[in-house]
Amino acid sequence: MSLDEVRDEARAFLSDHFPKWRKENNARGDLDFEQQRSWQRYLYEHGWGVPTWPIAYGGRGLGMLESMVWNAEKVSAGAHTFFNLVGLGLAGPTIIARGSDDQKARYLPALARGDEVWCQLFSEPSAGSDLGNITTRAERIDGGWVVNGQKVWSSGAAESDRGMLVARYDTSLPKQQGLVYLLADMHAPGVDVRPLRQIDGGAHFSEVFFTDVQIADDDLVGGPGDGWSVAMTTLTNERMSLGGGFGTFAMSFDEVVDIARRTGRIDRYGLVDIYARRTILDVLNNRVQSKLFAGQIPEAEGSVIKLLMAELGTLTADVAIDALGAGGMLAAEAPSAQQRFLGSHAMHIGGGTDEIQRNAIAERVLGLPREPRPDKEVPFKDQLRS
Ligand SMILES: Cc1cc2nc3c(=O)[nH]c(=O)nc-3n(C[C@H](O)[C@H](O)[C@H](O)COP(=O)(O)OP(=O)(O)OC[C@H]3O[C@@H](n4cnc5c(N)ncnc54)[C@H](O)[C@@H]3O)c2cc1C
Repeated sequence: MSLDEVRDEARAFLSDHFPKWRKENNARGDLDFEQQRSWQRYLYEHGWGVPTWPIAYGGRGLGMLESMVWNAEKVSAGAHTFFNLVGLGLAGPTIIARGSDDQKARYLPALARGDEVWCQLFSEPSAGSDLGNITTRAERIDGGWVVNGQKVWSSGAAESDRGMLVARYDTSLPKQQGLVYLLADMHAPGVDVRPLRQIDGGAHFSEVFFTDVQIADDDLVGGPGDGWSVAMTTLTNERMSLGGGFGTFAMSFDEVVDIARRTGRIDRYGLVDIYARRTILDVLNNRVQSKLFAGQIPEAEGSVIKLLMAELGTLTADVAIDALGAGGMLAAEAPSAQQRFLGSHAMHIGGGTDEIQRNAIAERVLGLPREPRPDKEVPFKDQLRS
């Protein structure tokens, strides 16, 4: 399908179906969680639920560019949601790429229909940027594994049915080896999900404790020792998902201009800065698109875009809040600006921190020497850890 064909079909579908679905489901204003799930199911039943997945798994086999067009059409139709981003954008593609036929058959249909929500159980109190520090243990038993340990910052864990879990099965191997990638049942005995309250009042992510949780071999992705490489497949998909949808987290230029006009507090330098950065981002996105057209994988550009997006998110929220004055900090007076302002700081951390993006840019774009990794070949049990 050409990009124009995707755009025309998406536009026609959304203008025809979204208002109809809204009316039939009595969905007024912002969609709540169950309405988002129902909209996902409707999209799936009409062939648009998982457009980037292969046709064999209910998708359309659309590439990154086409899916960006589809997402843009959803945003302009007001039909875009963040429903099960982790499941649809990370878990599904990982299972498609690395899962067994049995795992594909068991999990993909429920994921695509919106029946099951997934979370990502990677980060731990001492393993974030350096994911190789994972200490959650997976011990071998007959036919499976017993898991003990703690995860943290698991987005959507409280609503999730399943999770992608990385755990350590052999401490005599170096940190990036000795890991398994398991598909965990979040309702299994021994899984304790404790939501974390955020500064903005929400509870987007949770701590997740595993106590003697049994997971069958059928839910091991790849073999023992493939945990790191399967996790990298998930993280590559995460970067792609963030790259494609990150723009929607930041306030648009028009929204900020609108606030400045309404309040009469016009920060000219701030607005020019936002405009310039947005333009640079458009140029970078075009560059990524050209690379994709040429069949190349844009890697370092992803880091530049992620970094600029995080900076733009904070800048737009700062300029908007300054224009709104003290009232901008009150949820009752300016809910959107207040939430974006408080949430903008998380974007400097989630999906890889600013410093980690800068390291990637330094190494891959500027050709600077790689960070020293003295512990790479040392058995995990012999490593110095805090
Ligand atoms: C909104 C949001 C959603 C998230 N969702 C999930 C999720 O669903 N699942 C999940 O598993 N995790 C999730 N995370 C966690 C996220 O992946 C980690 O917070 C992130 O990787 C950073 O790890 P950390 O918090 O342990 O910080 P650390 O890695 O401990 O970093 C602390 C500081 O040190 C800096 N630093 C670390 N290493 C280096 C280095 N080599 N060079 C220079 N500076 C360095 C960092 O940039 C940071 O400023 C989420 C986080 C956020 C904010």
